[in-house]
Amino acid sequence: MRLSHHYVVPHVSTGDMLRAAVKSGSDLGTKVKEVMDRGELLGDDIIMEMVAERLAEPDARARGFILDGCPRTIRQAEALAALMAPGAIDLVVDIEVPTVQAMRRLASRRVCTDCGANYSVTTPPKVNWTCDICGGEVIQREDDTEDAIIRRLELYERQTAPLIEWYEDRNQLTKINGVGAAEAVSRRVIRAVEERRGRWQGPGRPSGRLL
Ligand SMILES: [Zn+2]
Repeated sequence: MRLSHHYVVPHVSTGDMLRAAVKSGSDLGTKVKEVMDRGELLGDDIIMEMVAERLAEPDARARGFILDGCPRTIRQAEALAALMAPGAIDLVVDIEVPTVQAMRRLASRRVCTDCGANYSVTTPPKVNWTCDICGGEVIQREDDTEDAIIRRLELYERQTAPLIEWYEDRNQLTKINGVGAAEAVSRRVIRAVEERRGRWQGPGRPSGRLL
């Protein structure tokens, strides 16, 4: 979110798109809800179809985008690479957080049901769990319960961790220390993007594409 404001490019979050589908109550949304409540991942085909559709929209085509929450599997990474022109993905950012800390962070997370803004038990909205930005209700997501979090971390180890090597092999990866306040972490990410941009030519390139 912070990055997409900094670079004025769309923040394409698979999590947000899936939650919007759930909220709409469509057939897809109902199916998505069942899977997410169990803390499981959706099939690669559904995710990639949704991502492909979003990235084909004019804003993403014109200015680039920050892709968040995808790819989560090697198959998704392959599908994404096939979707984009060669070299179109500028940088993949791996934000590293120790497992214990990741668990604590997910368990204390609270989100706005309307705009998706993130809060936590230690950084709540100013007034009574009402979103500072839009006035919506701020709650704990159903998939942020302890059981679902443990299952998600297991899935991460099994399905997502192998992506680190996959992107390293393609010289697209940068690792960022994810410990600390959100502002500090996003500054580190921006610095990494700027370092990578230093290798791009001139100001003609408006933004990075991040994962
Ligand atoms: Zn809100």
